[in-house]
Amino acid sequence: MGVPKDTIVFADSGGFDFSAEEVDTTPEETLDTQRRLDADIYGTIDLPLSRENRDAENERRVNQSTQYALEASNQHNGDGFLFASVHGYDPETIRNNIRYLEKYGDFDGYALGSMVPIRTDYKKVTKLILSARQSTDKHLHVYGLGGLVYQPLLLYLGVDSFDSSAFIRSAGNRNYLIPGFGGEELRNIESLEYLPCPCPVCGERSLDEIREDRTALTQHNLWALATELRRFRYVAESDRNIEEYLDLRFQGNDVTQRAYETAKQQVRRLT
Ligand SMILES: [Zn+2]
Repeated sequence: MGVPKDTIVFADSGGFDFSAEEVDTTPEETLDTQRRLDADIYGTIDLPLSRENRDAENERRVNQSTQYALEASNQHNGDGFLFASVHGYDPETIRNNIRYLEKYGDFDGYALGSMVPIRTDYKKVTKLILSARQSTDKHLHVYGLGGLVYQPLLLYLGVDSFDSSAFIRSAGNRNYLIPGFGGEELRNIESLEYLPCPCPVCGERSLDEIREDRTALTQHNLWALATELRRFRYVAESDRNIEEYLDLRFQGNDVTQRAYETAKQQVRRLT
């Protein structure tokens, strides 16, 4: 993809494809594929949970994912960092899972999955992520969440990395992401001559050009997320107060403001 040589590549197992079908790989095969991709970080095979599943079925999936992770740990020869994929729809399950994997396996980090089906339930997602964060000091990845709203929330909750196709999906919906604000449908800003973004994509193009070029819009959206990330790092690095920054960042949208307030209460309860 033409990215710089020092770019870190995370190869997950593609677990979400197994949500309906049977698993068609083994921990050993997956490690082999990840090695051949020359990935830096490997995620273990997992069976994502679903809100619609019965509790017993989700419990079976949680246990199966744990077994796959331990098998991968046994097969892992040390090249690449191995992250165990962890699932659970209550904080206890996640905590017990991470402790069990820490005791019986050898992992460089943990990757929390199954958040996508419950993504709009911010309170629950926040609770589950905090329970994972408290269970380990190692690297914590969250699968499938990102975007302009979730990204600052995840950073605030102490998540180390995350993956999201939000920038691609937004571009598909003709949504232009603006750091500090959120998504704006292109048809709402049709008469704007200059774009409100100086990224390498927008800096050289007019709104009309972006409108007609899906790839450019996708690339801009990725820049918008990168900008948001760099800003957060700046706030953390400087003497500024992160909560004050996020108070500003989330004002103006009731839903995300409530999500952030919930997260803040939960974080404060812990400290
Ligand atoms: Zn831009």
